Amino acid sequence: MLVCKAPEQNAGSTELRRKRTVIASNPRLAGFSDGTEDACTNVMLRALAKTSVARAFTVSGADRWFRREDDAAVPFIAGYHRVVEDFVESARGTIPSMLISAATFERHLEWLARRYTLVSLDDIGLHLQQGRRFGRPAAAVTFDDGYADVYHHAFPILRRKGIPAAVFVVTGLTGTSQPQLYDRLFMCLSRKTLVTRVLQRLGLPARAEDPFQLLTLLLTRYPQERLAAIVSELEADHPPTRREIDALAPMTWRMIEEMEREGITIGSHTSSHVLLTSETSEGVRSELAGSKQTLEAHLKKPVHHFAYPDGRCNPAIVDAVRKAGYRFAYTICRWRDSREPLLTIPRKVLWERAASNAFGQFSGSIMNCHAHGFFDSRRSCEHDHGALAA
Ligand SMILES: [Zn+2]
Ligand SMILES: [Zn+2]
Repeated sequence: MLVCKAPEQNAGSTELRRKRTVIASNPRLAGFSDGTEDACTNVMLRALAKTSVARAFTVSGADRWFRREDDAAVPFIAGYHRVVEDFVESARGTIPSMLISAATFERHLEWLARRYTLVSLDDIGLHLQQGRRFGRPAAAVTFDDGYADVYHHAFPILRRKGIPAAVFVVTGLTGTSQPQLYDRLFMCLSRKTLVTRVLQRLGLPARAEDPFQLLTLLLTRYPQERLAAIVSELEADHPPTRREIDALAPMTWRMIEEMEREGITIGSHTSSHVLLTSETSEGVRSELAGSKQTLEAHLKKPVHHFAYPDGRCNPAIVDAVRKAGYRFAYTICRWRDSREPLLTIPRKVLWERAASNAFGQFSGSIMNCHAHGFFDSRRSCEHDHGALAA
């Protein structure tokens, strides 16, 4: 999943509540802000500035000489999570920054296919291992978490266009009707009455009432076992509806096997989507080895690719991934372990609004900036990746 900062919510006067309602009903701003007028104005100003800078970057031809130092060797790898029919509808009650509509996803693919050769992760791995470069700029498409909506909405598009892709699966959820723990937590935190209880129980500041902000805080602060206990308690009082659960369903093994037969690379994303940097070394070993064994038993072939949940890794975790037998592992930022570059391959996470201009339309200039890492820097990552031993 993707963790990004959400704006703080302001105090709730009647006037502000009215503005929130008006602005929140604007589908162009859905998932962009907390819905207050000031926040929306700030979002619009930032979007205008971003659009202008991206256009200047592309039109001036600066993208021809702007290269990350590792660009020459590593193709652009896009990371997605959920693919849905209707972004605005799905963004109500689930995490917006994990969503992209099928229509926008297809725009992304069309833009990528015009500029890159879209290749498989196996192909990229082979080139990286052998120190070879692609003749033409190459890119790849990946999905984390294994949501069934990827099978329903992205797979048909990929198959029709003949584009390879990879799916990183949480094996413990595959074939169950159980949503991811952080999705269940986010649903609880989206219910006002439950948020107040969580804040009181955990002694957290009242200003942390924005669901995404609170989710980020809890994920960082507590191990998975504690989070599971919190979610179970909250759901006992206010269970999610069947519709909410179905919308977040994981893939079945039949879906995964069909996709794999049709050329989709299947990789591991742990057994239960633990954040590996928060777990014990035994827990890490079990999650890495268990998910690999389960996938290999179903697919009847070796599994070489792994994606770090939420991109969280450090040198000790990278070592554990190597020991578990993975050959290639993927982050969601630009941090690299110089000892293990093949186990810290950078990706860019994209969603519905990632390449939107100030008017909510797809912008090739902004997409171009993402592909060149123009908006990223090593210092921009919020995660602690630790230090390499001297
Ligand atoms: Zn994930
Ligand atoms: Zn990072």
